[in-house]
Amino acid sequence: SSRSSANAYLEKERTLAIVKPDGVSGNYTSSIRKIILESGFSIQREFTVHLDEDGVRRFYAEHSTKSFFPSLTKYMTSGPVLIMILQKVNAVADWRALIGPTDARKAKMTHPNSIRAMCGEDLERNCVHGSDSVESAAREISFFFKEAFPEGTTLEHDEL
Ligand code: UDP
Repeated sequence: SSRSSANAYLEKERTLAIVKPDGVSGNYTSSIRKIILESGFSIQREFTVHLDEDGVRRFYAEHSTKSFFPSLTKYMTSGPVLIMILQKVNAVADWRALIGPTDARKAKMTHPNSIRAMCGEDLERNCVHGSDSVESAAREISFFFKEAFPEGTTLEHDEL
């Protein structure tokens, strides 16, 4: 192994994926997991949780003053969700590209092969979440995985 030679390895990223209540109750979990693995991500950790209102408010803090927030809270607390840490090179952008636009109704028109086109319904019920930046990913991963990934945890560099 030659860790000293330049460009011998690329840094992997982690992102947070959530299969939302409509995705879980609609039995899309195994299709979504298949897409994830076939797209070259590894699933580092996963667990199922039924979020409460306080959890949704803390996770979606940036949206807590918006008019759609009460409805979003009702949706996100309506059943269990599957939380996953996905890892690969360029994980954040690549997962966002796979899930498609926020509005699943639009996704069905413009991104028919996206995950939201497959299992989402509209602007609210869009069946999956993906971190929108590397910074959001770090915050969201530590929100759900405090013990596993304490602050300051760095990614390993995998040789190619
Ligand atoms: N959402 C909604 N109404 C809106 C915008 C968003 O109900 O007008 C919901 C939707 O479920 C979305 C989530 O709130 O996934 C977070 O919104 P954001 O704009 O961050 O979209 P995302 O990053 O999930 O695509």
